Amino acid sequence: MRKNLSANQIEKYSRQIVLKNVGTIGQKKILSSNVLVVGAGGLGCPIVDYLTRAGVGRIGIVDYDKVDVSNIHRQSIYTFKDVGKYKVDVLKKKMININPDVKTKIYKNKISKKNAYKILNQFDIILDGSDNFKTKFLLNEFANKLKKKLIVGAISRYDGHIFSFNFKRNNEACLKCFYQSEVIEEVLNCETDGILGPVAGVVGNIQANEALKNILGLQNQLTNKILIINLLNLTFRQTNFSKKKNCVCGKK
Ligand SMILES: [Zn+2]
Repeated sequence: MRKNLSANQIEKYSRQIVLKNVGTIGQKKILSSNVLVVGAGGLGCPIVDYLTRAGVGRIGIVDYDKVDVSNIHRQSIYTFKDVGKYKVDVLKKKMININPDVKTKIYKNKISKKNAYKILNQFDIILDGSDNFKTKFLLNEFANKLKKKLIVGAISRYDGHIFSFNFKRNNEACLKCFYQSEVIEEVLNCETDGILGPVAGVVGNIQANEALKNILGLQNQLTNKILIINLLNLTFRQTNFSKKKNCVCGKK
């Protein structure tokens, strides 16, 4: 466990330290934590923003995209001045201004079978902020192999899906146990299906919240469950699912 909090840190984090589930011990856990965010878009922006503000010790970000004009309605950290710049470079600068306690590790490339093991292995919690199921399944596979925690978010139109896996547990179902069909790979596409900006914000913030709860050792309400939200009808529901036979998660 790291050294005692400074007077500045006690003041800076006072509104969360006062929470019964946090306290100075919880804040030290947050400052010692180590998370990876894959994707610096609509989900990645609120995830990185809130985890930086909370004082997460080290945040890795994987993204190879540049800011586009069409991103700004939902990717809440970028402005028109950032168009054309690499998202990770913009984020890194903003994170230093938001909270210099946080160390950043930038990966300006696409996550792939070649680099996933090496990158994921350096972090305790993986947050999926990607916009495609190929990447989500890749993270699922490697987080499972490496016995990491993985928090997945998926968004389309007014809908959001949130999962929180702890692959340290032997009987943990995985993303593939829920999405049995590969057809889903084509389902989420902001370009053709559209997305309302705040939907990305709500789902990304829930993912950040789950990451903090994980760091603090609070109970995971989403064990073998998915949280499905619809912001058009304002419904939030949890649905159980179980580990499937012959799934990728069986081969440990
Ligand atoms: Zn599975």
